[in-house]
Amino acid sequence: MKVNRLNLNRRTMLKTMTAFGVASTFGLTACSKEESTAPTQALKGAYDKDGNEVTPWTNWSGNQTSTPNERLVPKSTDELSSMIKNTNQRIRLVGAGHSFSGLVPTNETLMSLAYFYGISNIDKEKKQFDVASNTFLAGVGEELWQNGLSLENMPDINTQTFGGSIATSTHGTGINYGSMSSTVKNIVLVNGLGEEINCNVDENAEVFNAARTNLGTLGAVTTLKIQAQDKYYLKETSWMMDLEEGLAKTEQLRDEHRHFELYALPHADYILGITLDKIERKELLSSTPNTGDAYETFKTMSKVIDTLPYLRSFIINTGASTVEKEERTGRNYEVFGNVRDIRFNEMEYSIPAEYGVACLREILSTIKKLDIDVIFPMEYRYIKADDIWLSPFYQRDSCAISCHNFHDKDYKKYFAAIEPIFWKYDGRPHWGKIHTLAAKEQRARYPMFDQFLKVRKAMDPKNIFTNEHINKVLGLS
Ligand SMILES: Cc1cc2nc3c(=O)[nH]c(=O)nc-3n(C[C@H](O)[C@H](O)[C@H](O)COP(=O)(O)OP(=O)(O)OC[C@H]3O[C@@H](n4cnc5c(N)ncnc54)[C@H](O)[C@@H]3O)c2cc1C
Repeated sequence: MKVNRLNLNRRTMLKTMTAFGVASTFGLTACSKEESTAPTQALKGAYDKDGNEVTPWTNWSGNQTSTPNERLVPKSTDELSSMIKNTNQRIRLVGAGHSFSGLVPTNETLMSLAYFYGISNIDKEKKQFDVASNTFLAGVGEELWQNGLSLENMPDINTQTFGGSIATSTHGTGINYGSMSSTVKNIVLVNGLGEEINCNVDENAEVFNAARTNLGTLGAVTTLKIQAQDKYYLKETSWMMDLEEGLAKTEQLRDEHRHFELYALPHADYILGITLDKIERKELLSSTPNTGDAYETFKTMSKVIDTLPYLRSFIINTGASTVEKEERTGRNYEVFGNVRDIRFNEMEYSIPAEYGVACLREILSTIKKLDIDVIFPMEYRYIKADDIWLSPFYQRDSCAISCHNFHDKDYKKYFAAIEPIFWKYDGRPHWGKIHTLAAKEQRARYPMFDQFLKVRKAMDPKNIFTNEHINKVLGLS
């Protein structure tokens, strides 16, 4: 079943459109599947330098494309090691291709660890388990549950791989919970010399500090040991608030609930609050509403607004004012994971938690002041501080604010207007999302940046695990 956390649902939307009498005029039945999954231009034939046809690669949203001249899919650690030892070109690892930044694209070797899949060594006493790096986040919930365990938190989708998620400090929301990287207890990787390295807080501790958020630049991660906890059920509550009321209550809600997030609607006087809290089995609701893909609703709304731009605020406010409170319950991993059918591009920065509300306020007023053409909701979340060298949450409790636009809309002008606001609040960009920072600016944001580079160089002295984007953000040549 398709369930989602942002509940401005289609029923509400159609109610709103009916009020405007425009639904039938625009043939609004929500955007078609064909549109949401249409191949990008870049998927049409591509050729390498010798004129041979090569299969292009594209990421989830379609904003990153490349034409790898070789694809490698090792079946074992020995094979992986020998592929790395024998390569005469650079390699980029790919997980599920869900990063928006240029971490993965390469015209040289693209390597997938697709054969490295599944859970092993579930330790019920320590509440830990091993997971092969290319396992999807969605792939562990059921098996852990059968063993009495669950992940402590999850991002808002579950179709990334563990290896990819850890590489960028992928996170969910909850001020008492760190990113996926913060739950890692041991890492096994094959470095740029083809050597298998085991690291944790006691063994190769410096490598461990670098490898927990590694951008795919230390080598190929094959296995991760993850700290889990006892299994739990969740109740999610979402409700629309007056914008000012919502902003005033944000820090209180953050502290009162296990998980709290906001969806801020540009050009609107409303904000959607979402909380998730642990419940007992007996508190499970008898049915869970199927809200559809909320972003699909916004895509439909965007079509109307494109033709009636001067009614933008009015349409969004009218839609928002009709949204009813909704509750969902279930096993945690069923409640955490959303389905995203509508492709979009995204920029996200993490700022010190205490600046969150002020920063969001400034972003919303800038969008209004500059009349930026965007209706896509912004996501506002909290993440606990950690000690991982390249984690955006390094030594500070953080608030992550994400700006999105539909994949077929220009995001560059919008992001360019907002990015300096994040800088003003000492923001660190999500490594897997769109930003414009290079090594000089990143070094200033990460106290352990040079230590990371030192360990990276030791792990990959021949700079095999690099591409142009990596060279830019880490300052490699
Ligand atoms: C719809 C959508 C929703 C999202 N929601 C969230 C969210 O809620 N929170 C959040 O923080 N982020 C979110 N993201 C971003 C996403 O979680 C990150 O970009 C994540 O890194 C993607 O994982 P992946 O498996 O797709 O890896 P990829 O994007 O394929 O790769 C990411 C990095 O990992 C490296 N890598 C992959 N596998 C390995 C390996 N085995 N060894 C070493 N390096 C490896 C790659 O080289 C690359 O540097 C979202 C993205 C999308 C498209």
